[in-house]
Amino acid sequence: MKKTVLKGKTLQELKEYFTEIGEKPFRGEQLFDWMYHYLSDDFDEMLNLPKSLRERLKAETELKTLELTNTSISGSEGTVKLLLKTGHDNLIECVVIPEEKRVTLCVSTQVGCPLDCKFCATGLMGYKRNLTAGEIFDQYAMAKKIFERDITNIVYMGMGEPLLNYNATVKSLELFAGRLNKGISLKKITVSTAGIAPRIKALADTGLRPKLALSLHSCFEDIRTKIMPVNGKYPLKENIEAIEYYLRKTNGKITYEYTMLAGINDRDEDIKALAKLCRRMPSKVNLIPFNSVEHVHPEGFSGQLRPTPKWRIEEFAERLRDLGTTVMIRDTQGDEIAAACGQLAAVVIN
Ligand code: SAH
Repeated sequence: MKKTVLKGKTLQELKEYFTEIGEKPFRGEQLFDWMYHYLSDDFDEMLNLPKSLRERLKAETELKTLELTNTSISGSEGTVKLLLKTGHDNLIECVVIPEEKRVTLCVSTQVGCPLDCKFCATGLMGYKRNLTAGEIFDQYAMAKKIFERDITNIVYMGMGEPLLNYNATVKSLELFAGRLNKGISLKKITVSTAGIAPRIKALADTGLRPKLALSLHSCFEDIRTKIMPVNGKYPLKENIEAIEYYLRKTNGKITYEYTMLAGINDRDEDIKALAKLCRRMPSKVNLIPFNSVEHVHPEGFSGQLRPTPKWRIEEFAERLRDLGTTVMIRDTQGDEIAAACGQLAAVVIN
């Protein structure tokens, strides 16, 4: 008999499950706490469930979705990359980034990615499948168990495009936010997207209100399409309108992620266009130094991409600030263990 996978079910679904198997719905609340609050994978710990029910659940259901296969730690910064195996024997990665005042977990939403952004190692490895909400949640559970400090922030910036795995992404947000008194506030969770305009609007309509980041990388449609083919399907113009809709509903601020590529998006006209775009709504820009994707042996256009030199990133930031834009330059954490933005590609390098 195929076991029922419980991890990933919402409170409502758990109550329904228990009703279906002839139990009282409040058992769903108890199990919800055990899975998402106490992060338990062991029915024997769940002493508020009768022994007979625990035995039945052991036989008929499955709690764990991921198995830890490897951890690597970047010496200089303490960034930890977890390599995790799913039930289908796919490998995924998540990264814990400790800083002085916060600990951020970067989660994956897909095995690989279908978007094929030319600067991203995950894109170059291709797409295998969507993760379930349980598998997204379990990255948090795993990271929390092996990391001594509390995880304070979650960013959906690992492998995959969260808004192409929309249902599981939304469900996982509900699970993170719904974990009793210890839930992570959605104000501390950022969903990063390459720009799937209709799904940005749909996410706004859920009322969940996580923070939103758009991987912008160029304000010019033709250049953006060249480095991010998805822009052909959902042009920047549509995404900007969708973001305006999102911010109207959520009262937040949009973060534009901008990976600096020499000669492609670091020119003077890019500064002007970016400052102009930023004046349209509350926003900030994260400039990301381009991390090498040499470990996946890129060919053609991808192989020709080069990082903007540090001095130019600083000048670019300064000139944007002069034009009234809020700008941060992101530290490149985890480069030594290929855990930095755009370097995640478990299946290729392992
Ligand atoms: N698919 C989502 C989330 C994953 S990427 C998205 O596109 O937003 C997370 C961030 O890392 C994105 O802004 C992405 O554009 C950036 N990134 C990808 N490859 C990179 C690389 N080689 N160097 C620096 N940043 C990169």
